[in-house]
Amino acid sequence: MSKQLFAIFGNPVSHSRSPLMHNLAFKNLGFSGCYNRYKLEDGEKLKETFFSLGLKGINITVPHKEHAYQACDILDPFAQKVGAVNTIVEKNGKLYGYNTDAPGFLKAISEFKEVKTVLFLGAGGTAQSTSAVLKDEGYEVTLLNRSASRLEKYKVAGFKTYTFDDFVPHSYDLIINMTSAGLEDNALPAPKEILEHIIPKTKACIDVIYGKETPFLKLAKSYAKPTKDGADMLLYQGIIAFEYFTQHQYSFEEILPHMRQTFDFN
Ligand code: NDP
Repeated sequence: MSKQLFAIFGNPVSHSRSPLMHNLAFKNLGFSGCYNRYKLEDGEKLKETFFSLGLKGINITVPHKEHAYQACDILDPFAQKVGAVNTIVEKNGKLYGYNTDAPGFLKAISEFKEVKTVLFLGAGGTAQSTSAVLKDEGYEVTLLNRSASRLEKYKVAGFKTYTFDDFVPHSYDLIINMTSAGLEDNALPAPKEILEHIIPKTKACIDVIYGKETPFLKLAKSYAKPTKDGADMLLYQGIIAFEYFTQHQYSFEEILPHMRQTFDFN
């Protein structure tokens, strides 16, 4: 059988770990596949680019997850609900769309037990799919965001939402940084006085950023709180995407050690 071709579409895309993760798993599991990166400038051209490159499947990253949603012929119910697709597989000329970010995130936080209330710092694209999956699983999610405008759709969906100006702190079992604060700067995701008020009462703090210790996680550690970065979230979304790419020939546990090796190359 000829090699099946896969890629990640994004802009920028040069830093993505997905090619390494998927190619290692293809090689080690003996699957005849090859995964590349593709810088897609115009999201409207996602579908035609997919077919012109002769691809079998793709992952989609910033800023094209909504374009990917539009490009699909058939949507997984969860992808449909959150309006964002990060994994597409071609079957018989049709594009099937999935969202593996949210189940990957859910699995990554499952090590924290007896959690009911969760505070999200941030309300962007990543918060959108992950808040929906947490709500479905029975967690109570509150969102605290810098700007009011992003919170509107969460309010409509029934979430408790605050800006820094009207925040009324409660105690939360988990506090999760869903912003890009700390990714390329030294910013905290919310004013320090707010964080210093809520972190002491929480069970654990999580950051979706990976590959560095963010100011948020540093602050959480200064209160001796358990912490976790975004590496497992990235790993798990990749494994679930790989399951779709290979039509579920391999189980999650079979794929895991191969993809995990990628994180040894830091
Ligand atoms: P978006 O651009 O959609 O949203 C950004 C959010 O961050 C907004 O809520 C914005 O608030 C807030 N924000 C940005 N800078 C600051 C700041 N200095 N202070 C306070 N709030 C700030 O981003 P995404 O949702 O796509 O990505 C968010 C993070 O998640 C990124 O760091 C990304 O790397 C990470 N990520 C990790 C993944 C993983 O697998 N581990 C997967 C996907 C994303 P405002 O509305 O006020 O602008």
